[in-house]
Amino acid sequence: MQTIPQTEISLIAGRVQFVRDSFRAGLTRPIEWRRTQLQRMIAMLTEHEQEFLDALRHDLGKPTTEAFITDLAFVTGEIRAMIKNLQKWNRPVRVASPLVTMPAKSRLMPEPLGVVLIIAPWNYPVQLLLVPAAGAIAAGNAVVLKPSEISASVSALLARLIPQYLDQGAVTTVEGGVAETTELLDQQYDHIFYTGNGVVGRVVMTAAAKNLTPVTLELGGKSPVIVDASANVGVAARRIAWGKWLNAGQTCVAPDYVLVHESLQDKLISELKSVITDFYGVEPHHSESYARIVSPHHFDRLKALLQGSTVAIGGDSIAQDRYIAPTVLTKVDPSSEVMQEEIFGPILPIIPIADLNEAINFVANRPHPLALYVFAENKKAIAEVLERTTAGGVTVNGTIMHLTNPRLPFGGVGESGMGGYHGKAGVRVFQHLKPVLLRGTMIDPSIAYPPFTERKLRLFRKVL
Ligand code: NAD
Repeated sequence: MQTIPQTEISLIAGRVQFVRDSFRAGLTRPIEWRRTQLQRMIAMLTEHEQEFLDALRHDLGKPTTEAFITDLAFVTGEIRAMIKNLQKWNRPVRVASPLVTMPAKSRLMPEPLGVVLIIAPWNYPVQLLLVPAAGAIAAGNAVVLKPSEISASVSALLARLIPQYLDQGAVTTVEGGVAETTELLDQQYDHIFYTGNGVVGRVVMTAAAKNLTPVTLELGGKSPVIVDASANVGVAARRIAWGKWLNAGQTCVAPDYVLVHESLQDKLISELKSVITDFYGVEPHHSESYARIVSPHHFDRLKALLQGSTVAIGGDSIAQDRYIAPTVLTKVDPSSEVMQEEIFGPILPIIPIADLNEAINFVANRPHPLALYVFAENKKAIAEVLERTTAGGVTVNGTIMHLTNPRLPFGGVGESGMGGYHGKAGVRVFQHLKPVLLRGTMIDPSIAYPPFTERKLRLFRKVL
């Protein structure tokens, strides 16, 4: 079994203080410093591409193409947009000034927050650490990075390469699990950006509250798919299968379960069966395109979720390989374990519903999901789902893809999190937009000052 990479706990407070001192000294302020760090981050990913792909395969059995797209190209794409817009996204924005302030100009002046702690999970361990890190750097912050100990090979690789490529004065990496993160959370920050499950999200927010530190929480939850009676079932099956079995279901916005109009259930299942064969062959175990479960502990949890339902597709597993087949369940009891917790693995329950209203109520009666998917050709049905449900984000007639548009901030709502990022929002989240009123001194009418007279009051009544 792989050992967990750890940073010596006694060093952690000093590391945080060190980057804080650099921030105070102004190291991270110049736009050129930020540009260089972002360019170096891209260089790190491209010059060590094979090592990253190997580490991702080691931790998660990630297929090369999948790893390249989701954990490398996605990150470099985000960073390139930040480099391109670095001046623009950090420039003061002029806003109008009211009459009472005249003569005056008003600005919103973006400034860095200070020291940002970024805590990442294991499922997209490069992307979920480096995209927020790049945003924080682009906004001029110092950063403390905490990769997940569960994706241990990626954690070790990042901890080795980051100091080689990025300025150690303002970017530091701390490795480890609960003990190290607890020590990290004991330090003071200006923002904490956490991605992971809601239980730890509460731990993070409680620790942040002690210092009134703002938090962004990128959490998970059960993201539903609604397949309306009007849906194109062939396309739905393909897009559901792609989103569900990407990274073997270990994706925060993976379809968690499907609510299908009862008239389409059999057709959907048979389409899913043939799509799985198209994607991964008759024996997905031998497929080069199918990932593995991250750890024996997560494997056991998923195996336990298979109890009590009918396996319509898949269901087989190989413990020593941490393999669980693409699996579809039917006859699922809504009160069973698989319908209570986020599945976060390759198991897809399918629940028939009588009409759209039932599907909408099913979703609306549960915590707000991170993502919601609806497949329908009927525009009214789409509008109804959008109006009567709440979710972090939505793709209509697709899965996952809304997060690929950098103009759509990505994040949760309620139980699935708070705050959003990607694109401009990914820099904005690490800025304070400081309101500045610049007044001129040429005119300084005495009406604004005491003593207050009846005449002044009459005038104020007219102009205010
Ligand atoms: P994880 O176990 O790697 O934990 C995330 C981070 O929290 C790690 O760095 C870990 O060291 C730290 N941590 C764990 N226990 C802690 C504790 N007691 N105190 C302090 N820190 C602690 O990952 P995970 O939580 O299993 O990740 C899966 C979850 O994350 C799922 O719910 C998934 O939906 C969600 N997720 C959300 C997004 C998103 O963008 N919204 C992305 C990926 C995953």
